[in-house]
Amino acid sequence: MARKLVGRVVIATHNPGKLKEMRELLEGYGVEAVSAAELKLPEPRESGMSFAENARIKARAAAKAARLPALADDSGLAVTALSGEPGIHSARWAGKDKDFARAMRLVEEKLHRANAKTPEQRRAAFIAALCLAWPDGSDQCFEGRVEGTLVWPPRGDKGFGYDPMFLPDGFERTFGEMDAEEKHGLPPRGRGLSHRARAFLKLAEACLG
Ligand code: IMP
Repeated sequence: MARKLVGRVVIATHNPGKLKEMRELLEGYGVEAVSAAELKLPEPRESGMSFAENARIKARAAAKAARLPALADDSGLAVTALSGEPGIHSARWAGKDKDFARAMRLVEEKLHRANAKTPEQRRAAFIAALCLAWPDGSDQCFEGRVEGTLVWPPRGDKGFGYDPMFLPDGFERTFGEMDAEEKHGLPPRGRGLSHRARAFLKLAEACLG
């Protein structure tokens, strides 16, 4: 049976955007979220081959260093016609200056070279792994994914990363055209739409009160 999380939890990220999103998700569950940056924890090298492996590496390192339960996520865009790329390298495709207009152009160029023109040929999924690690070395990981197609040109300025070119199945607006509430689609209004919200709902059911 999954262990229940109470008290303090370290959010194993140095990214303020992710920290904010995790804090919002945890609100109302009676846990106090402190960040790895606030605790000055070192950032481990993400040497895993999958989203779950990388989330586990980050969560375990933070739990061990802080002697507290730690929550980490790893996520990205997997494009079917590109054999799952950029995948775990999604952030890297934007370069050091985090230029996602460039990263989206790179995806589009590769799709063009692969002759992927129709929506069926331009399938992709956003995937998120969330891992909760305990100071005793054990952990629990949960994965969420949302399927869709890639549009060009990108649409909307609301999200981040690859949001403006991702059209989730069953919707006419890209993630870049949705506000955060619609993108995540959390209860009571929705049943989870974004990959992160879907992974979080699984974690909440198993580990939160
Ligand atoms: P990491 O999880 O910090 O390694 O990086 C995830 C990268 O995947 C981000 O920098 C974005 O490029 C991309 N990504 C993950 N989730 C989303 C999302 O919800 N919207 C847009 N891009 C995302």
